[in-house]
Amino acid sequence: MKIAILSRRASIYSTRRLVEAAKARGHEVRVIDPLRCYMNITSHRPMIHYRGEALEGYDAVIPRIGASITFYGTAVLRQFEMMGVFPLNESVAITRSRDKLRSLQLLSRKGIGLPVTGFAHSPDDTQDVLKMVGGAPLVIKLLEGTQGIGVVLAETNKAAESVIEAFWGLRANILVQEFIKEAGGADIRCLVINGKVVAAMKRQAKEGEFRSNLHRGGTAVITKLSPSERATAVGAAQAIGLNVAGVDILRSNHGPLVMEVNSSPGLEGIEKASEKDVAGMIIGCIEENAKPHKTRTRGKG
Ligand code: ADP
Ligand code: MG
Repeated sequence: MKIAILSRRASIYSTRRLVEAAKARGHEVRVIDPLRCYMNITSHRPMIHYRGEALEGYDAVIPRIGASITFYGTAVLRQFEMMGVFPLNESVAITRSRDKLRSLQLLSRKGIGLPVTGFAHSPDDTQDVLKMVGGAPLVIKLLEGTQGIGVVLAETNKAAESVIEAFWGLRANILVQEFIKEAGGADIRCLVINGKVVAAMKRQAKEGEFRSNLHRGGTAVITKLSPSERATAVGAAQAIGLNVAGVDILRSNHGPLVMEVNSSPGLEGIEKASEKDVAGMIIGCIEENAKPHKTRTRGKG
């Protein structure tokens, strides 16, 4: 097969591993910088041009679109979809996953366990929203944050109010969430491929920190999932519509709660913790699913 990887740089660990895995399985593979793609939007023959040439003959595309380039990156991916190239994850599903509120709404519709979460717009409603989610301690999050940046723990209602008002003053969209204290600064990253959890790790925040992101100094160890954790992870990926997803779960005293669903999960932490060839399994997923014109949405939406 001829596979395109949409990624800013070939040297990134995940991109490098996907290239290696695709080659090892006998495929032709090329890393394409989405920001260097340009397109003509015609009704009969959608095309993508790249550094002066037309991109043609691809069977599948692996989107590795960073949060900072979601808008342009998903537009490029949509164009591949319109050309009938099989996307590992569809553009609509990626767009859903990038908005924490939209994702939580989709998950709640499917009855998946979530931390109690509130959302508001007007400072006049701050007090009520705080009450609605059970009061401090609370977690306040930027809707489009990543790597733990923009996630704040407010220990008192007063602190929560100040933080909320400060974010609103900056015109940022935020959500307010119950703090799952019993998770003890840990969360579980489940790597879901094609409706199965293929690897999982527990990430533990460093001393004095509640955010377990590896970028914030968290450490990863392998963990065994309960059947309900497994079902929750698989259900969450399916609700968002992702073939490949990194589902983050908090272990609460009333069962697994999904915090977020990532559409371009990093491979380094999970491959090292689990000692599994996750990149190879991703290429396997493409081998099972890629047929031209298989995207259900044809790039719509
Ligand atoms: P990001 O997209 O920036 O990674 P997350 O929503 O995943 O944002 O939050 C970052 C980290 O903060 C999580 O991995 C988790 O350790 C911690 N965290 C987030 N929400 C909660 C919560 N409601 N209760 C307890 N810990 C939380
Ligand atoms: Mg996270």
